[in-house]
Amino acid sequence: MSQSFEQRRGQKSVDEWASDVSLILDGNTNEGIRASAPGRVEFIGNHTDYNGGWVLGATIDRRVEVVLQRRSDRQIRLQSEAAVPPVEVPLGSVERQSGEWAWANYILGMVEVLQGEGMTIESGFDLRVGSTLPVGAGLSSSAALELASGAALSEAYGGEFLRRDLVRMAQRAENEFVGVPCGLLDQAVVALGGADRLVRLDARSEATAAVPFPPETGIWIFRTHQAHALSESGYQERHDEARAVRERLRELLGNEEAEYLVDVSPSQLEEVKRELSRTLYRRARHVVTEHRRTQRVVQLLKAGRRSAAGRLLFASHESSRVDYENSTEALDFVVDRLAEQEGVLGARLTGAGFGGAAMAWTRAGYGEEQAHEVAGAYADRFGTELETLACRPAPGLYVWA
Ligand code: ADP
Ligand code: MG
Repeated sequence: MSQSFEQRRGQKSVDEWASDVSLILDGNTNEGIRASAPGRVEFIGNHTDYNGGWVLGATIDRRVEVVLQRRSDRQIRLQSEAAVPPVEVPLGSVERQSGEWAWANYILGMVEVLQGEGMTIESGFDLRVGSTLPVGAGLSSSAALELASGAALSEAYGGEFLRRDLVRMAQRAENEFVGVPCGLLDQAVVALGGADRLVRLDARSEATAAVPFPPETGIWIFRTHQAHALSESGYQERHDEARAVRERLRELLGNEEAEYLVDVSPSQLEEVKRELSRTLYRRARHVVTEHRRTQRVVQLLKAGRRSAAGRLLFASHESSRVDYENSTEALDFVVDRLAEQEGVLGARLTGAGFGGAAMAWTRAGYGEEQAHEVAGAYADRFGTELETLACRPAPGLYVWA
């Protein structure tokens, strides 16, 4: 506790070492097994995942860290520095928690899934959680908590799982134990992301790949703090609309042409435009074009064409705004201000929309001053604070040896 960060850092060598790796919880790495997982942001690929399309995500340098110590008895004791009560359960009867204890489910879910995969947890343990990642902000603190806990448990009890196994197990913990029907993106980015890359998920095959993230560029997140409840009902409505238009397109084009919405080409969509309501046509147009924009961004990043890739981020926002109608006046305002600034390669709403956050992809020179300019204009216009977070892709999940 008395050691400086530099001293603590000197004790360890980690392959993926980067300047943004830090110890969040007090103490040194000898006192237990330490695991760390970053948050993530959706770089492009808005509402493409449940339509069988591509999504690109980036890890961010805000993290969840856990320290696990084995106990000699069979109690599990969980504690977080976030404002949540500690949870204590016997190893033999791990049950889903509710109310203010529900935060423990992300960890208990991993306990259940790891055991289901054949790992024996022969003793109880204490697990402490620390975090620099905003909770419930669409930055995937849930996946970071699952993966940091899962990796620490696996290390403590000889799980020997591969990273990609943990990705699946974390998704199962969230789907089955926590009860949130999330896709694979959050867990895949948190576990497989890194400082030098974005993670591409093909939602159809669930295959992932690394895409080079241009050095000396950064990511800024602008949180509007608009209502989350709205986001959930809006998300469900878009989900239902996407299913409805896919079914209609199957009737019009045949099953093979429209297994997923992203299978329909922009020109096929134009051909049957008159058969669709204006709303459903626009929903389909967003998904169909967003999937292709995401594919194009991958090509452009591989070719080092930053400006062209950045323009597609702006195009993504425009498509969300006009066709998917999941933007808000506040998000549009932020993206419009960003579009006027030097050093912004691209900007768009990120995540479900209907409030939430926008992100900007920036050149090296972009800094606090410009971000505060946007926040200042926002405060003048809406009378509320715009929270700005300077981020950049960061090492994915790791365990301290
Ligand atoms: P997001 O993943 O976007 O942050 P979620 O609603 O999926 O939002 O997950 C947030 C939940 O994860 C919190 O309500 C809490 O239960 C749990 N959680 C995340 N970080 C922590 C933490 N540091 N301590 C305790 N619980 C946490
Ligand atoms: Mg989450």
